Amino acid sequence: MITSEERAGHRSALTVTAWELWKRPTNWITFTGLTVAAMLALTGIFTMTVAVETSQVMTCLLLAALAIVQAEATRRIEHQRRSLSITPHVSMTSVWVFPGAFILPPQLSALLVAVIYLHLGFRSWSGIRHVNPHRTVANATTMTMSAFAGWGAVQLVGDPSVTVSSICFAGLAFFVVNTALTGIGLYLAAPGKASVPNCLGTWDDNILELSTVCLGGLVIAALPYQPALVLLIFLPLYVLQRSVLIKQLEELATTDQKTQLLNATTWQQGAIREVARAERENGQFGALMIDLDHFKSINDTYGHLAGDDVLKGVAALVKAETRTQDLAGRFGGEEFVVLLTSSSKHESVAVAERIRQRISEMVIKTQDNEGNPVVIEQRTASVGVATYPLDGRTIDEVMASADASVYAAKRNGRNRVVSSPDLASVADVAGMPLEAVAA
Ligand code: GH3
Ligand code: MG
Ligand code: MG
Repeated sequence: MITSEERAGHRSALTVTAWELWKRPTNWITFTGLTVAAMLALTGIFTMTVAVETSQVMTCLLLAALAIVQAEATRRIEHQRRSLSITPHVSMTSVWVFPGAFILPPQLSALLVAVIYLHLGFRSWSGIRHVNPHRTVANATTMTMSAFAGWGAVQLVGDPSVTVSSICFAGLAFFVVNTALTGIGLYLAAPGKASVPNCLGTWDDNILELSTVCLGGLVIAALPYQPALVLLIFLPLYVLQRSVLIKQLEELATTDQKTQLLNATTWQQGAIREVARAERENGQFGALMIDLDHFKSINDTYGHLAGDDVLKGVAALVKAETRTQDLAGRFGGEEFVVLLTSSSKHESVAVAERIRQRISEMVIKTQDNEGNPVVIEQRTASVGVATYPLDGRTIDEVMASADASVYAAKRNGRNRVVSSPDLASVADVAGMPLEAVAA
């Protein structure tokens, strides 16, 4: 049954002015348009200048058939991966396109990519998650240009025979052009959010892309001698895709999606492990609870999306100000927690003070609900500091102490760091019980 949403989608696909493409940044549209034009021009030139043999057409058809069978067999996994992925989505198509680049004349590689992506595109459009046609065209163009680079590398070496060095050189050219074009596209799509992992992919993304190129290399080695051996690629490829999905699910289960910090459950588990370690080794650690001051007013003034950008800014800052072995998490709302491994109270207070200072200097450029640019600055935070074993022997006790300090900081005027001895001295000076100061 076609839903009204799908009907609207089909209608907008037919009306050029209603295409989602026009909502993309102008620079991205220009870059993609130019790359498509270059790819089509090169395909035309190759068609006129490079000879094609019948056996090569047969190999092209065989590779296309293998790619389609493999895509069909792993369709559900791909759908799940695509809907979970927050970083550039690495597809498995290089396993078939790279051999095409090596073995086939370039115009046939272009045809191979067109067949594979038409199939993928139509299957994705009718699938669980709508994929915009312009994305499929952009990906297919990147793949074709990578294939041209692979082919060019083989011509450069002047050795089209299947040798380790020719496969590696062509694979490298294929990979570099693929990464570069994808990176430029991602940068132009959101220059404000550009970072190395955002544009060039994480280490894991690149290892995955390289491993698909490596499998493609094995396909090249098998095809001229024993084409049936290519079938042995299917199972490892299936397992590879599944393990990537599992890793993505794991990341999703442990990470706060808005800030990419640890979520509350994972932070708590890590903290419990740290208590056990500190107990075993007679060690210590610090815990910070950071609560942004008057955060609600940001939402009220500029809207939730602007508030989200502030949360992301604070998260990045907290990550930058702590070490890799520390645990930085989001407890919920506008509350962040940090566990500083092997740190004394003195050291923890110093880190808390640095974070408080950096938050007050933070400048966030974002948009309000109407899309007008706004600059959010001079925000502050109240930070509570507690340490193990001074303030508690379990993580709950330590965090209760840090929490009490946050409340004391709020009551004392916000934008300050309070640690438990300060709390005791406030109580001392005021001649009040500690609970009354923290309440
Ligand atoms: P105080 O200085 O006393 O901490 O005041 P506050 O406004 O920061 O604290 P309060 O607890 O009153 O409000 C927290 C606000 O955080 C309320 C809620 O709308 C907002 N909030 C919680 N989670 C999110 C989120 O994920 N995104 C955005 N934009 N706002 C959130
Ligand atoms: Mg709060
Ligand atoms: Mg707050």
